[in-house]
Amino acid sequence: MMSQQGYVATPPYSQSQPGIGLSPPHYGHYGDPSHAASPPGMMKPAGPLGAATPGMMLPPGPAPPGSHQFGQNGAQASSHPSQRFPGPSPVNNVASSYAPYQPSPQSSYPSPVSTSSVTQLGNQLGAMQINSYGSSMAPSSQGPPGPPSAAAFQGPPRPPQPSILQPGSQVLPPPPTTLNGPGASSAPPTAQYQPPPLPGQTLGPGFPPQQANYGPQMAGAQLSYPGGFPGGPAQMAGPPQPQKKLDPDSIPSPIQVIENDRAIRGGQVYATNTRGQVPPLVTTDCVIQDQGNASPRYIRCTTYCFPCTSDMAKQAQIPLAAVIKPFATVPPNETPLYLVNHGETGPVRCNRCKAYMCPFMQFIEGGRRYQCGFCNCVNDVPPFYFQHLDHIGRRLDHYEKPELSLGSYEYVATLDYCRKNKPPNPPAFIFMIDVSYSNIKNGLVKLICEELKTVLEKLPKEEHEETSAIRVGFITYNKVLHFFNVKSNLAQPQMMVVTDVGEVFVPLLDGFLVNYQESQAVIHNLLDQIPEMFADSNENETVFAPVIQAGMEALKAADCPGKLFIFHSSLPTAEAPGKLKNRDDKKLVNTDKEKILFQPQTNVYDSLAKDCVAHGCSVTLFLFPSQYVDVASLGLVPQLTGGTLYKYNNFQMHLDSQQFLNDLRNDIEKKIGFDAIMRVRTSTGFRATDFFGGIFMNNTTDVEMAAIDCDKAVTVEFKHDDKLGEDSGALIQCAVLYTTISGQRRLRIHNLGLNCSSQLADLYKSCETDALINFFAKSAFKAVLHQPLKVIREILVNQTAHMLACYRKNCASPSAASQLILPDSMKVFPVYMNCLLKNCVLLSRPEISTDERAYQRQLVMTMGVADSQLFFYPQLLPIHTLDVKSTELPAAVRCSESRLSEEGIFLLANGLNMFLWLGVSSPPELIQGIFNVPSFAHINADTTLLPEVGSPYSQQLKMIMNIIQQKKPYSMKLMIVKQREQPEMVFRQFLVEDKGLYGGPSYVDFLCCVHKEICQLLN
Ligand SMILES: [Zn+2]
Repeated sequence: MMSQQGYVATPPYSQSQPGIGLSPPHYGHYGDPSHAASPPGMMKPAGPLGAATPGMMLPPGPAPPGSHQFGQNGAQASSHPSQRFPGPSPVNNVASSYAPYQPSPQSSYPSPVSTSSVTQLGNQLGAMQINSYGSSMAPSSQGPPGPPSAAAFQGPPRPPQPSILQPGSQVLPPPPTTLNGPGASSAPPTAQYQPPPLPGQTLGPGFPPQQANYGPQMAGAQLSYPGGFPGGPAQMAGPPQPQKKLDPDSIPSPIQVIENDRAIRGGQVYATNTRGQVPPLVTTDCVIQDQGNASPRYIRCTTYCFPCTSDMAKQAQIPLAAVIKPFATVPPNETPLYLVNHGETGPVRCNRCKAYMCPFMQFIEGGRRYQCGFCNCVNDVPPFYFQHLDHIGRRLDHYEKPELSLGSYEYVATLDYCRKNKPPNPPAFIFMIDVSYSNIKNGLVKLICEELKTVLEKLPKEEHEETSAIRVGFITYNKVLHFFNVKSNLAQPQMMVVTDVGEVFVPLLDGFLVNYQESQAVIHNLLDQIPEMFADSNENETVFAPVIQAGMEALKAADCPGKLFIFHSSLPTAEAPGKLKNRDDKKLVNTDKEKILFQPQTNVYDSLAKDCVAHGCSVTLFLFPSQYVDVASLGLVPQLTGGTLYKYNNFQMHLDSQQFLNDLRNDIEKKIGFDAIMRVRTSTGFRATDFFGGIFMNNTTDVEMAAIDCDKAVTVEFKHDDKLGEDSGALIQCAVLYTTISGQRRLRIHNLGLNCSSQLADLYKSCETDALINFFAKSAFKAVLHQPLKVIREILVNQTAHMLACYRKNCASPSAASQLILPDSMKVFPVYMNCLLKNCVLLSRPEISTDERAYQRQLVMTMGVADSQLFFYPQLLPIHTLDVKSTELPAAVRCSESRLSEEGIFLLANGLNMFLWLGVSSPPELIQGIFNVPSFAHINADTTLLPEVGSPYSQQLKMIMNIIQQKKPYSMKLMIVKQREQPEMVFRQFLVEDKGLYGGPSYVDFLCCVHKEICQLLN
């Protein structure tokens, strides 16, 4: 299976690091023979895709725990010339100095932050006292170059200072602040927790295993709920707990961690001038200022300090990974990317590794040459690019060139970077509507056609353009395909039917893809006619693969990239390539064959995805299933082509249209790049070895994407192939070559410098738990295709314990074995990991369908860090205590039933679903205010929209719901849940700190389980 490796991957790539060898692949040049893309026109490759790629198709099967993270990388000593690292740029004069570049920069510097670092420290010490469990010191845990630093946060600009990072200068331990009383030493910050002894026992190695509910027997070992929902408060207390255990308030709280970070860093300016600086949490709002490293909106890492050697990396087992969202949306108060245009010469690149000019290049010899920060090659500066150096060795135009002083920017690409050395045509959108009987009958076809008339007005366009360059086309289908000619000079649209779905051809070229504005009348005419045209059709059967094939062939014929919007409802059972049968089999659940449910049932979709990527054809699928449709097969092409899969189960017009229409509008308007190739370059000593996302890989280095939009992230894992130097650091450059919505070929460059250390404590100190969970989720969900889920869960638990045991052994001060010690940066790692382990992809539940599991698996594979954080640990907000005058969200509470109350009203959201939970004794004035009914009993829960009441409560609640929905890739459907009524069963699955109804331990139980494993590892 393409680009799917075994979870227990041995070092996948044995060849030398790309770009380091003598004849590096010529990235970005389509004509280059070393570029391993399939030749144009090759449409039907034989055999399974990617099988030839080294490291793929690893035999499934259990593997020694932990072995998947670090293979045997050569650790030969090598000396790197020390690199001078660019110092912080002046804070206030950057914007003006870029005046020559477009787009014209807005002021990226909002009103100066008044908080001094002194008061921040005070605040944060205050916040710490609340933390009964820990001795956390978030900012100081960054060490000296971390925020809050006066340079980054304070008023007047300072002259640029060169900052040559000294080895070890960034590794000072923070002041000891342990709350464990005397005897605690100056260990790095930790959250120490001393669990209360159990009756007759101490918590420690001898702790009675509570994990009868955990591990291999997780599923099925739980209470079995008969159909009816047992009412009454007794049941609401959750499944019976075997015995009194830890006080949940005493274990690390995600809410506390999120709130602490907000209190310390929220609303401030975060400047990216310091290498290895850990950014604010993804849940903290702040203003990011690019000063030489890519914004965390574009790249987040699992740790900002890499271990110097692969031995250290193996010891800690902390994944070294970056979650890259190259097209992330930046808020209006941050500077958009600058566009650099070197004309026909194109971007300046290192001769050897082909890295693009960036702040990591060191100019020498009076500016005549520069040393590459990635491969150390010394290059001549091209004459047109020459500039003198100042007294500290920096080019005089340092702050005038984005590529010298910024972490992220774009280049105009030359013809060398275009297919066939021709400028690309603007992309096209093709709308493909399933007009089989049920879709006509339930009104879906009419709804889609009506909506298209509106959304086509909003096709994406460049800011300076009046109309969109994107052309549009229309196809309807059931078991045959209907193409429409909507040429502007026609009085009526013309339909052409293709009945040979085995060999789809495009029956018309002229008039199929048109400019919407020019053909508006004909298009509206068509959209009016389509629902009537098929009104009498009794056709139930559909095809699917031929639909994608047709769209791709049409784009190919028009020689443009593009996106297919497919609106589909059923299992494609008509005789055609990609025909599917119902193979849903619940008996496979909890067996070694469960993985089959996640695999496509035919390799037709694999081949199709490969063809689509080769032609820049991205597929977005809107699915309206009323029964099993085999999402694992149908969703494969959308996933691998950078498209999006939307799914509306049992679509009902009155309940679901709003969610669907919001998704459709949002998807059409999204920022997106087409026909993209991403390449991740690294400095010597490590390299990218594995990639996860909506991507396709024909070789081990080029990440191909038919399209990539603002919500899609690619997670990249790195491994050592040599030693890393503390002074040179670990540098990453991500370059995405793509076609814009107006048909311009561009390069988007993101650079990020990380620290390196030979101290394990530095590694732990610089971890980012949200990014770690993103990585673990994607690597586990990829592994689901090849390995038994039980094995994957065990690996995750083992690795969790291993990471924490290594910290305990090497970084924490000596303490009683009964103490559970967590690194400050990973305080909430166990609770998040437990959420991942309990997700329905890794742990089946009877009420979750196979299709839903396949769907969630696919969604997570392309998620960025913010989305995965919310998905695994939902936001739970008390509504009954609303301050109707506030414009901010109420503080969240932990996702546990113990936080609910009969008198309360709570809103829960995870990015896909939203619930409004109402306690039986909710205040009548609130019920009146929100629902306009007198009491709890009168509330109609059979709705997805709140009534228009106009009361302050109602308005406030709607504002909160809007804030939560903002910037989320999927429109969340609202479900009203009344306490002790049936739908509460669904809601309770999202209370992720509690024990699952069908398995999966509570947070407390999981922590005990992990603690026990740690103790075993340490003994
Ligand atoms: Zn180089």
